Amino acid sequence: MAKRVVIIGAGPAGLTAAYELLSRSDDYEVVILEKAKKVGGIARSVDCNGNIMDVGGHRFLTDVPEINNWWKEMLPTVLEQERLSRIYFNQKFYDYPVKLRMETIKNMGIGTTFVVCGSFLKSKILKRRVESLEDYYIKQFGKKMYQMFFENYTENLWGRHPRDISPEYGMQRVNDKISVIGLLKDMIIGDSAVEDKKKDVFLYPELGPGQMWETVANKVRDMGGKIVLGAEVVGIKRGKKNEVKSVVYMLGEKKCLLKSDYVLSSMPMKDLVMAMDDVPRKYLKIAKELPYRDYMIIGVLVSKLVNAVPDDWIYIHDKNVKMGRVQIYNNWSPSLVRDAEHTVWLGLEYFCNEGDELWRMNDKKFAEMAILELKKIKLIDDNEKILDFHIEREKKAYPAYFGSYPQIDELRRYLDKIPNLFLVGRNGQHRYNNMDHSMMAAIEAVKNILSGSAEKDNIWNVNASKEHQ
Ligand SMILES: Cc1cc2nc3c(=O)[nH]c(=O)nc-3n(C[C@H](O)[C@H](O)[C@H](O)COP(=O)(O)OP(=O)(O)OC[C@H]3O[C@@H](n4cnc5c(N)ncnc54)[C@H](O)[C@@H]3O)c2cc1C
Repeated sequence: MAKRVVIIGAGPAGLTAAYELLSRSDDYEVVILEKAKKVGGIARSVDCNGNIMDVGGHRFLTDVPEINNWWKEMLPTVLEQERLSRIYFNQKFYDYPVKLRMETIKNMGIGTTFVVCGSFLKSKILKRRVESLEDYYIKQFGKKMYQMFFENYTENLWGRHPRDISPEYGMQRVNDKISVIGLLKDMIIGDSAVEDKKKDVFLYPELGPGQMWETVANKVRDMGGKIVLGAEVVGIKRGKKNEVKSVVYMLGEKKCLLKSDYVLSSMPMKDLVMAMDDVPRKYLKIAKELPYRDYMIIGVLVSKLVNAVPDDWIYIHDKNVKMGRVQIYNNWSPSLVRDAEHTVWLGLEYFCNEGDELWRMNDKKFAEMAILELKKIKLIDDNEKILDFHIEREKKAYPAYFGSYPQIDELRRYLDKIPNLFLVGRNGQHRYNNMDHSMMAAIEAVKNILSGSAEKDNIWNVNASKEHQ
């Protein structure tokens, strides 16, 4: 009898696990239960009247050659794109990562440049203790650069000030390869961000990230895997040996029960624990208090921008608007846009909390606000007409590193003792993963199932060290 592996979630982690398991062995029956009506998770593509939205702009970028090859073999038509993204601050563009070249100095003015350099040098001389994300940024970039390029943006992203956030986020995510020598080199030799983009190449499916994950899903189905869409897992039943015996899910109004020999979960850790019976109160509390940041993106179709920009996306650092970033989908892949020659398809990103003012705003009002913001930052002309728009709301887009996060290892150790349960993925492990990390965690879990090991450390070791980044 084939052993049944139930995978919760058809995002990059769940689909990679299913694909890897089915392609390596015939001994397993694979069933994916996916709450949404389509596959891809956060990395899905959404078709809006022929214009395709990427929920966030997903670069397929990794330092692991095996994952890079996996993507290329899975989708041989995948594009190789050159990245350009800049910071929009005080109505001027700055390189990201920040470079001290002539244009930057011109934009900042001589006075501010001196303050930036002075505070940067000071941060290199004085060894600041790092207890918060604010400390981390100031230590890496100096106070002035932190105030200009990180403080406001980070507060907008997480909904709390960097001084109240663990430094771990910065250590995992921020490009801190900025050195005195590097800055001087930028200034003396001078180079342009536009020229520089050639050095920064990523893969991108012509029809957005969902194309990759729909391809994987089709292969999983071809190999006999089953993907149940619209199936929300609401219960995890355990047996006498603490093993998961079955998974309960809702299919519309219908409650269904599926026996399982193994469970791989990429659903949020918080929801998973809440779905379990008999969890000791101490662990339930940690799970309940795990925080997230939610996210909205509005696709806006316009006939043109005030000035054409080459960027894939732009970080918006402007206290007068709520938007965090703008994606220019035409620059990711013209195939995302029905008429790329005559229209520009933008994605305006907003960080919010489920149930807050932004989240609850009705679509029409939200669109009006977003469009007004585009005009405020002078990306579109005051007379520009909006040809179409579409809004996506993403719950738990960002697992956050505050709340009960410092106790997460206790919860992890409790869950690790369930021998046939493997936690994988971004929300599955409550870790700020990119797609490659989610995939690698899934591959490690598959290796454990195939070798009959109940080991979990190898899964948690993915994306755990700064060296990996
Ligand atoms: C704005 C933004 C930009 C990003 N940009 C990049 C980028 O450029 N490059 C990159 O590599 N990564 C990027 N990421 C991260 C990337 O989206 C994630 O790493 C990836 O989607 C994680 O895959 P996953 O399978 O772990 O989780 P998810 O994509 O979250 O998939 C989990 C799946 O589980 C399902 N699920 C949840 N609860 C249940 C339940 N109870 N029952 C059944 N199913 C359930 C969900 O519907 C979802 O489909 C970005 C993320 C965001 C938010």
